[in-house]
Amino acid sequence: MESDLDLQHSIDRAVALLNSGEVVAIPTETVYGLGASINSPEAIEYIFELKGRPRTNPLIVHVANLEQAKSLFSNFPAELEVLANQFWPGSLTLVLPKSNKVSDQITAGKNTVGIRVPNHPILLKVLEQTGPIAAPSANPFERISPTTAQHVSNYFPKGLKMVLDGGPCQAGIESTIVGYENSRITVYRLGAISIEQIETLVGKVALHDGTKSKVVTPGMSKKHYAPQTKTIVTKNITEFIDKHPNAKIGTINFQHISASNAFIQLVLSTSGDLKEAATNIYQFLHKLDELKLDYIVIEPLPDVELGRSVNERLSRAVHL
Ligand code: AMP
Ligand code: MG
Repeated sequence: MESDLDLQHSIDRAVALLNSGEVVAIPTETVYGLGASINSPEAIEYIFELKGRPRTNPLIVHVANLEQAKSLFSNFPAELEVLANQFWPGSLTLVLPKSNKVSDQITAGKNTVGIRVPNHPILLKVLEQTGPIAAPSANPFERISPTTAQHVSNYFPKGLKMVLDGGPCQAGIESTIVGYENSRITVYRLGAISIEQIETLVGKVALHDGTKSKVVTPGMSKKHYAPQTKTIVTKNITEFIDKHPNAKIGTINFQHISASNAFIQLVLSTSGDLKEAATNIYQFLHKLDELKLDYIVIEPLPDVELGRSVNERLSRAVHL
């Protein structure tokens, strides 16, 4: 563990780099990000290059507080302010019409911008000194999002001046993305805040998560989050193992191990806690992906609350 002095030094260094137009890998509570000041177009361009990210896929802007967010939106409906007040700092991204402080480069030409206040004490300290930071997840395009500083260094052994280590990500999956269409709160991407949590506060919301034909959120339109290893999601792990007796298989179960003869077996939450399962899922996928297995076989989670968000990611991880 870093001493307080070392941590302060790292924060100062990250701030100095960001303020001088460099890209820094930053910790958040969801996943690690590749961050650049919204006022550094060259650094933002470098993020797209480094990730191999299509220029049509916008970046989320991270801010220190609600006031900063307000200066970047041109319009902030009261209903969404209710959500911001409840969930910020936290894993909820709001997509709303942008002010002229946000460039087309960040929004991929859209007139809306996605913004959130992350719930990570180290990043909040950085943001207070840098102002808004645009940051997508710190993985190459279509790979699993990183949840530790080590994952980021593994992905980008060269090309980054600094990975600011903030420990393992507590939420462990991406933010929930919410917008406002025809005066209705609309969820564009399931994530670390459940739809149930949102609906408790504002009533029934619409869902446009890319499983429907109209793709609103570009990152949802493609296969995503994929391990290199062939990945299967099935309720019947035992049957899959029996059919592949010579294969080297790693399994991921929700609460209880369901097969006895895999090479490695992981359990997301022995207490059956969906939040803990979400925290662990990418961590486990990274771990199994390093083992040169023939298959990763995963049991789907109960399709409620954060289980739904994890299942959505699993459906993108599978190799058909
Ligand atoms: P990442 O940080 O890698 O999870 O990517 C950010 C995601 O946020 C993008 O893939 C988009 O899906 C979403 N996003 C960001 N800005 C907007 C926007 N203005 N409209 C819709 N979706 C957005
Ligand atoms: Mg991403």
